[in-house]
Amino acid sequence: MIVSKGYAAQTPETDLVPWSFERRDVGPHDVEIAIQYCGVCHSDLHQIKNDWFPGIFPMVPGHEIVGKIVRTGAHVKKFETGELAGVGCMVDSCRTCENCQDGLEQYCEKGNVGTYNAKGKDGLPTYGGYSNNIVVHEDFVLHISDKLSLSAVAPLLCAGITTYSPLRHWKVGKGHKLAVLGLGGLGHMAVKFGVSFGAEVTVLSSSANKEEAAKALGAHHFVLTSNDEQIKAAKGSFDFILDTVSAKHNLPLYLSLLRTNGVHICVGAPTEPHIIPAFALLMGRKSVGGSGIGGIAETQEMLDYCAAHDIVSDIELIDIKDITESYERMVKGDVRYRFVIDMATL
Ligand code: NAP
Ligand code: ZN
Ligand code: ZN
Repeated sequence: MIVSKGYAAQTPETDLVPWSFERRDVGPHDVEIAIQYCGVCHSDLHQIKNDWFPGIFPMVPGHEIVGKIVRTGAHVKKFETGELAGVGCMVDSCRTCENCQDGLEQYCEKGNVGTYNAKGKDGLPTYGGYSNNIVVHEDFVLHISDKLSLSAVAPLLCAGITTYSPLRHWKVGKGHKLAVLGLGGLGHMAVKFGVSFGAEVTVLSSSANKEEAAKALGAHHFVLTSNDEQIKAAKGSFDFILDTVSAKHNLPLYLSLLRTNGVHICVGAPTEPHIIPAFALLMGRKSVGGSGIGGIAETQEMLDYCAAHDIVSDIELIDIKDITESYERMVKGDVRYRFVIDMATL
């Protein structure tokens, strides 16, 4: 086994604390990555708090991982020691079901293996990127360009692919009016991709103080969701809403902002279910869809797109000892726009 150190939640009620643990040895198809940076996703907080389902504790969160390969198994073909590499939200899947065959490993019919808070095929718990190293099968490891700032690339592994994938799936681009609901880690990447794909982008935000920053990210318009006048003016205007909000919110209100045939895409994952009256959908033939991260090939496509178009995340680099305070600030929407842990501080 390989000795690892990181930060773990011992229970859903306690803060993260330093913790030593073991990972599997590097198998013939595995690579070992020395982690340099790990992004802080709102899903990390949902999971350590058991918001979605009872978790596996102790839990080492983190699924926006970048670093350097320090060891490769004998049969590894795609990576070499010394190269940069990334790991996102999954580290394995069945590989044989229809979804896996179609490059949609995130929707594996047997369930993908999460980077943390899951059990691998060996039955052992997986531990995430708030740690100094990770061992992953090469098929679930991504190539990272050395042209971009490495710390700012980390959030692409989840926030990036989670917004890139639905925008590509629904072919959002030139001629479309896209609204991004919630300007946090996911939301700011959705703005960057939406603008890059040629859409007219509006940010729908509950934070008045984000207007200037939204425009600086490239958004064309800003609507403060608590301002009735601004909401009224936006009624029936969007082709797509990409909903990144992490907490309970009023979906029917946002459905009223869609034009006929408009699509509301849920990527945010609040604990409570949405309540949608049929009339909010049938008047205007509207749809509600959802999207979960992205497959491995599409994640590589997104990373290559970002390298070609000079797209990275806007980040605040933190010491790992400040993780609890960072969660508190994230919940308040007080982050521009993603905390990234500098693993040298571990
Ligand atoms: P985040 O950085 O905290 O951003 C969420 C944003 O939602 C906030 O910045 C805020 O934007 C808005 N918001 C928060 N609470 C709100 C409330 N009570 N009412 C209205 N707006 C509120 O979180 P994130 O990391 O981007 O993640 C967002 C959500 O996506 C989380 O639920 C996460 O678990 C989920 N997620 C899903 C996937 C997937 O595969 N589908 C992947 C990753 C994450 P404003 O200040 O602009 O209002
Ligand atoms: Zn995430
Ligand atoms: Zn599968």
